[in-house]
Amino acid sequence: MALAPAASPHVMNTYARLPLAFSHGKGVRVWDVDGKEYLDALAGIAVNTLGHGHPKLVAALQDQVAKLIHTSNYYHVPDQERLAAKLCELSGLSKAFFCSSGLEANEAAIKLARKYGHDKGIERPQIVVYEKAFHGRSIATLSATGNPKVQKGFEPLVEGFIRVPLNDIEALRRATEGNPEVVAVFLETIQGEGGVNPMRAEYLREVRQLCDERDWLLMIDEVQCGMGRTGKWFAHQWAGVVPDVMPLAKGLGSGVPIGAVVAGPKAADVFQPGNHGTTFGGNPLAMRAGVETIRIMEEDGLLANAARVGDQLRGALERELSGLDGVTQIRGQGLMLGIELARPCGVLTGRAADAGLLISVTADNVVRLVPPLILTTAEADEIVARLVPLIRAFLAE
Ligand SMILES: *Cc1c(COP(=O)(O)O)cnc(C)c1O
Repeated sequence: MALAPAASPHVMNTYARLPLAFSHGKGVRVWDVDGKEYLDALAGIAVNTLGHGHPKLVAALQDQVAKLIHTSNYYHVPDQERLAAKLCELSGLSKAFFCSSGLEANEAAIKLARKYGHDKGIERPQIVVYEKAFHGRSIATLSATGNPKVQKGFEPLVEGFIRVPLNDIEALRRATEGNPEVVAVFLETIQGEGGVNPMRAEYLREVRQLCDERDWLLMIDEVQCGMGRTGKWFAHQWAGVVPDVMPLAKGLGSGVPIGAVVAGPKAADVFQPGNHGTTFGGNPLAMRAGVETIRIMEEDGLLANAARVGDQLRGALERELSGLDGVTQIRGQGLMLGIELARPCGVLTGRAADAGLLISVTADNVVRLVPPLILTTAEADEIVARLVPLIRAFLAE
């Protein structure tokens, strides 16, 4: 393993990093600075949709960098129109706002929900959020997040959030009963950082119906589970629901920083000039990355690939690991999979790297696999071959 200094003198110590640095990548493989090869089942945390060095994306981005990187939102950016139209076509929604990250997309959604409330005369709007949720690390989005570790030390938190458990419609009804200040329900279809926890399809449909009855916005954070990862463009589409507000980021630009919040008719015109903005959001480079990522995904059939290879990967993991003492559950959909173990297993990230495999462990005891959507069945088999012995050895300790 390529050794990097344990603590940097000048970079703030915000991450428990592995002692590893990479020099280049190709497809689902990356090489460290010493030339060792790794299979990338993390994809920069569900970001590198097209893997590394995809020739079509590289050509498009090189072209764009030479033409224009940034102009500002004082002017029209033609690719914003193109990407917004495409996202609306794929989601059934009507308008998009562009930013540069997941938390910014969620921050925009939270502001939008509050403004939606104020426009209706609700002066202290409340938003329903979930246990184990992760929405980002700005003060508002960490307040919406359901992990006390993310919040600790940053109090006072932003008020106006009501927290409920997952997949329990009665709990949602009880928590909001007779409360005229509720304006939105904000959820991840499959919680990512919280441990790959899916919302049941039936639950999503019940929440949609409740939002319609009460005139609340259904806001679905698809930052991690969206953009084809589960085999549909957006994970909630498996349940046949359409949200009112949908934050996106991670996989949307295949590695170029980008975020978006896409809104349907109830929410698309809530923001007016002066209500929201960002310097970098929607810049020509990021927009080109978004447009080309979607175009290449369509050309290369990556939705179907994510579903098919994901099923195979999950099937193989279930055959090898299900029922073993210490394996609690294997869950997720498409190429967003989690293996929950009965005890904390953070050490597995380093051991996997030693074995030439990049993974992450989330929520302390869930091995998370979110590889690029170009993964082949042969590469999925390789992931299983490298990962299973590590988990078996860990369970035996
Ligand atoms: C990663 C993530 C975020 C935050 O995105 P950043 O780009 O890190 O700000 C928000 N929501 C979900 C569901 C995420 O997975």
